[in-house]
Amino acid sequence: MSENCIFCKIARGEIPSRKLYEDDEVIAFHDINPVAPVHFMLVPKQHLVSLLEADASHASLLGRMLVLAPQLAREQGLESGFRTVINSGKGGGQEVFHLHIHVIGGGNIPPMVRRS
Ligand code: 5GP
Ligand code: ZN
Repeated sequence: MSENCIFCKIARGEIPSRKLYEDDEVIAFHDINPVAPVHFMLVPKQHLVSLLEADASHASLLGRMLVLAPQLAREQGLESGFRTVINSGKGGGQEVFHLHIHVIGGGNIPPMVRRS
């Protein structure tokens, strides 16, 4: 737990969120500033900064989160597919420094990297 972390505060219920899933280890809620019709995040309740800080002790938690992603995506109507994004560290464009898996879908999802 980290005192001033926004996602820890959401996990503790101190900041409201549009929650779509919760268990002992993981919470999922809609992104406040969505980039697509469906955009939610899977977040471990444990304060883990990013994948850069992850090690073998996090393997089962990370595996559970990845398996939850398609389950929750289907529940949100993304039967035809979705994009997962994990920004890691400043070099990866991360803005909230508590690990999260973005699940994005619906509408037109362009190729992730444009090649000219
Ligand atoms: P990052 O760039 O760190 O991968 O993504 C951070 C995401 O968190 C952004 O998409 C941003 O819209 C979202 N976000 C930031 N603050 C809040 C908040 O207070 N509530 C929710 N639901 N999402 C937030
Ligand atoms: Zn946190």
